[in-house]
Amino acid sequence: MIKNVSVIGAGTMGNGIAHVFAQHQFTVTLIDISEQQLQKAISTIAKNLDRQITKELISEEQKAVILQHIQTETNIGKGVATAQLVVEAATENESIKLQLFKQADEAAPPDCILASNTSSISITKIASVTSRPQQVIGMHFMNPVPVMKLVEVINGYATSNFVTGTIVELSKQLGKTPALANDYPGFVANRILMPMINEAIYTLHESVAGVEAIDTIMKLGMAHPMGPLQLADFIGLDVCLSILQILHKGFGNPKYAPCPLLVNMVASQKLGIKTGEGFYTYLAGSKDLVVSDKFRK
Ligand code: NAD
Repeated sequence: MIKNVSVIGAGTMGNGIAHVFAQHQFTVTLIDISEQQLQKAISTIAKNLDRQITKELISEEQKAVILQHIQTETNIGKGVATAQLVVEAATENESIKLQLFKQADEAAPPDCILASNTSSISITKIASVTSRPQQVIGMHFMNPVPVMKLVEVINGYATSNFVTGTIVELSKQLGKTPALANDYPGFVANRILMPMINEAIYTLHESVAGVEAIDTIMKLGMAHPMGPLQLADFIGLDVCLSILQILHKGFGNPKYAPCPLLVNMVASQKLGIKTGEGFYTYLAGSKDLVVSDKFRK
């Protein structure tokens, strides 16, 4: 039975994944190269637990226990040494992930399962740099992890049925609903979502409509909880760009080419919520959605 989980990467997704495992009594080691990111992640988890207390979903005592279940580490070798499952949620960059899986494979116990939360990078390719490709799988959580019910479970070419079954059961144990996909660019979720976000950005770029109109049309017209431009800010524009580049390269089809406006925004570090500005501006403490100056007529 899996009890010890190591989560690599303490950004947007890593803190949520650590939170959910700890809330379900797993012992979690949260690993990042940046000590500052680790501290930020722990304070984000504490804030999100406070929100759960306000909603009367958990008690103060449970919050303390959950936080005690999470330790932090900057050394990956030490961080995975006793793991039964590693969930990698580091930056969406192929060379970073290949390097991390090599390191995790060398340091983790032989029966440990190595999962990636990647949005689009090939699980089969990641598995190929390890000595245990049958134990490598995609475990794709959705953002925000404590709230969203889906885990897209992605089978690499070599993933064993036993490992798939273990991750499916584990996802259910976390209160999530697993859905299976095979390993092709973007899997299912992002193969469908990213072309929609890219088209919304093209629609803005070609001045068909403004930020608010595009998001309002998609929210009210299609009953989406968030418009595609707000969702892109939420995901991170750098993450959206990386996924589109992988779809574009993987299928060789120009329909996935990232909109030049997205490319420019990422080049100027307007990455959405995480940098305070994307299609909207995120003012400290404000809950109002304010369109970025750049897109105001
Ligand atoms: P992020 O940029 O918020 O965080 C990435 C973290 O990885 C950072 O804290 C960084 O310091 C850390 N990191 C980078 N290199 C590292 C290394 N060598 N060792 C340890 N830590 C390292 O990114 P994110 O949005 O949390 O995305 C993480 C993964 O989750 C990506 O694969 C992404 O595709 C996937 N994902 C993202 C979303 C989303 O909505 N943002 C949704 C589902 C899946």
